[in-house]
Amino acid sequence: MERESLALVLVGHVDHGKSTLIGRLLCDTGSLPEGKMEEIEAAARAEGKEFEFGFILDHLHEERERGITIDTTQTFFTSPTRDYVIIDAPGHKEFIKNMITGASQAEAAVLICSVAEGVQEQTKRHAYLIELLGLEQVVVAYNKMDLVGFDRARFLDVKRDMGAFLDRIGVRPSIEVPISARDGDNVAERSEKMPWYDGPTVVDALDVFEKITPPREKPLRFPVQDVYEDPEEPDRRIVVGRVESGTLREGQRLRFLPDDEVRTVLSVRQYARGNLETAGPGECIGVVCDAGPPERGQVGCPADSQGQGGKANVTDRFRASVFWLSATPLEPGNADWPLTFKCATQARPCRAAAIRERVDSGTLEHLPPDAGRLEETEVGELVLETAGPVVLESFYDVQELGRFVLVRGRDVVAGGIVTHVRD
Ligand code: GDP
Repeated sequence: MERESLALVLVGHVDHGKSTLIGRLLCDTGSLPEGKMEEIEAAARAEGKEFEFGFILDHLHEERERGITIDTTQTFFTSPTRDYVIIDAPGHKEFIKNMITGASQAEAAVLICSVAEGVQEQTKRHAYLIELLGLEQVVVAYNKMDLVGFDRARFLDVKRDMGAFLDRIGVRPSIEVPISARDGDNVAERSEKMPWYDGPTVVDALDVFEKITPPREKPLRFPVQDVYEDPEEPDRRIVVGRVESGTLREGQRLRFLPDDEVRTVLSVRQYARGNLETAGPGECIGVVCDAGPPERGQVGCPADSQGQGGKANVTDRFRASVFWLSATPLEPGNADWPLTFKCATQARPCRAAAIRERVDSGTLEHLPPDAGRLEETEVGELVLETAGPVVLESFYDVQELGRFVLVRGRDVVAGGIVTHVRD
């Protein structure tokens, strides 16, 4: 049987120990290929450096850059129960983009906080993001316990500070573990240095989390990614994409929105599996249709959607919570279309029509929205407009069609979630 895998993100202030913890997780669960540790230790010695567990991750990043490992964003470790995919990215901003675009949607998070430094602004911003993205399976790891002599009182102090913030944003951690990532205490092995702690290790805490399987009974949403010529019948086209929600069936009639073209599904194919009768959420498929193919960016929905959980939302004005990432602030205006809205495979020129709310993600301070701009690291409740219709869902209904990025030039300047499909 195929082993289950769970997608995990590690978040927290820079230098609080994310890379070290990832290194430990890989090493202490025996997930590194044979000889890898020795190779990395030797490389560190050759550079005259003392080995650190964070080097493991650096080494894997380097291998990726040189194209030695195939996967570009993900790192794996295994526990007796399942496999874990760690979604990591080199920097703070890349990481936030990664998390929001959900190229790799996380199912659980480890929020890491050094007890030596305590809860910092970035810790809070990352926690805010966990809440924004609706991640409910959260472990808080209080790291660097070795630096405070494994002192219980210090652990409780930082835990209290953290609790006060998490409470305000509505994040409820499942487990809070005092660890030393450097020494491996309470990561995969129980620590003897903290006899006062009788809870699970980080790995044990993660093993209790549940795999999130998207429901098949939601309405079908099938964003078109690409259209190819059928190699067997050159005048036929194969429409390729990923089923984001619901179920797609052979013989079904699809309405491709926003263009509103109806097609019948002649066959459903999947690479390596051949023809399928049905395809469910998360499955990447090719669909052969009876008439000319829809284009990239169209979203296939049931043609008679009324009976199947409601019609798809086609809109050009909606509300969203937006995490602004650029040093150049967002200034709403109605004159032109300075941004590109990207959601699933859709891309449309976009502008902010209004800022309804403005919050500092680090302090949770509500700022006056009428200041007319959204600054870096602020979260705004915005009214967004697109130049032409887009197919959207509220993030709380269908995550993949409810989360998006805003691009200016070639930069991703914001990530967000749709809160109301109409303003
Ligand atoms: P990141 O920026 O969050 O990925 O942090 P790193 O994993 O790179 O760690 C930053 C620094 O803290 C490095 O010098 C680590 O060796 C050190 N560090 C990480 N975990 C621990 C720990 O448990 N104890 C101590 N004493 N140092 C640690």
